[in-house]
Amino acid sequence: MRPLFIAGNWKMNPNTEADAVALAEAVKAGVGQDHAVRVALCPPSVYLHRLDSALSNSPIGVGAQNMHPEPSGAYTGELSAAMLVDVGCTHVILGHSERRHGLGETDAFINRKLHAALKAGLIPILCIGETLEEREQGRTEAVVASQLDGSLDGLEAEPMAGVVLAYEPVWAIGTGRTATPEQAQEVHAFIRGRLAEKFSEAIAARVVIQYGGSVKADNAADLLARPDIDGALVGGASLKAPGFLGIIEAAR
Ligand code: PEP
Repeated sequence: MRPLFIAGNWKMNPNTEADAVALAEAVKAGVGQDHAVRVALCPPSVYLHRLDSALSNSPIGVGAQNMHPEPSGAYTGELSAAMLVDVGCTHVILGHSERRHGLGETDAFINRKLHAALKAGLIPILCIGETLEEREQGRTEAVVASQLDGSLDGLEAEPMAGVVLAYEPVWAIGTGRTATPEQAQEVHAFIRGRLAEKFSEAIAARVVIQYGGSVKADNAADLLARPDIDGALVGGASLKAPGFLGIIEAAR
């Protein structure tokens, strides 16, 4: 019922537009016109416009890695939702742990971005997840619930169905240490249950929940086979086309 969705978060890579275009073109060639699995690439913002043209005539979406909640104004270095739409973005990653923990982004700030993204017609990929310390203290569900409550504040049921969630345990991001499929499924089921309480069973059943954290071609199939894991947000393994295409293949 829910389409599987694989998104590549390139973070601050690669360092040249030529390399970015070459990577996008290789992924485009591998995906072809296959719509069975939803795919998006989230490059650094300086490449968004170029990737939008490189990915024309392809079902692959283009996502930004961040945006500012205000529509315009004196926000040096920031990008608005309208700017992202104007350069061809379909998606935007919000609340990535590297921004929550590295740059101090709060749920309240992420919530403002979420509302602005939806208003502009972007599909938000909202990241949530606990640190290793929080997991070891048995606080995973409390942390995830609080992030959901704060980030989704004021959201109506219907727009919620269009939000993509990415459960990304911080201890699994870029560490090579993947959550086991059982650990991931347990939290995904908890998230879906929380959405059912906050919105409705029907809305919860429609929300795509990706897993993120050291997903690779060789561990993707096991994760994606779990009933509440609807795709993957992929960092390191999205930087080489064969590996990323292997993850897409595992989703087919
Ligand atoms: C990410 O950046 O969202 C991520 C999951 O990274 P990695 O796949 O490298 O762990």
